[in-house]
Amino acid sequence: MAKADGSALPTRKGERAWSEKDVETVRRTLEEDISELTSELAAAEQQAQALAEGFGDTSDDQAESGSFMVEREYQLGIIENSKEQLLQVQDAMKRLVSGNFGICDSCKQPIGKARLLAYPRATQCVECKRAEEAQV
Ligand SMILES: [Zn+2]
Repeated sequence: MAKADGSALPTRKGERAWSEKDVETVRRTLEEDISELTSELAAAEQQAQALAEGFGDTSDDQAESGSFMVEREYQLGIIENSKEQLLQVQDAMKRLVSGNFGICDSCKQPIGKARLLAYPRATQCVECKRAEEAQV
């Protein structure tokens, strides 16, 4: 099987073609993100678990119970967030492997090498991202 050198990946006007090194940088960033997010997720789930277990001892106390709920919400928020980010990064990795990497979800134009090197999990070009954020 031929090794992907990235020359097939899209660039924007004025950008130089993807070099093997660029592709490697993106791949490495994604791999690092995956392992970082995976351990973050594991840690958050462990804390949520510990919290749930600790709660059994203090359930009589109203104040404790209130702060438990807040803390639990917070932990679940972190877990949700990590899961979502992990999915984004894994999707980006799949696109990179399959050669569908770097096309904007919204306008189907190249996202641009500079943006992807800085933020490999981007699914939209800067313009579409801004337009979307302006709507919120
Ligand atoms: Zn776009």
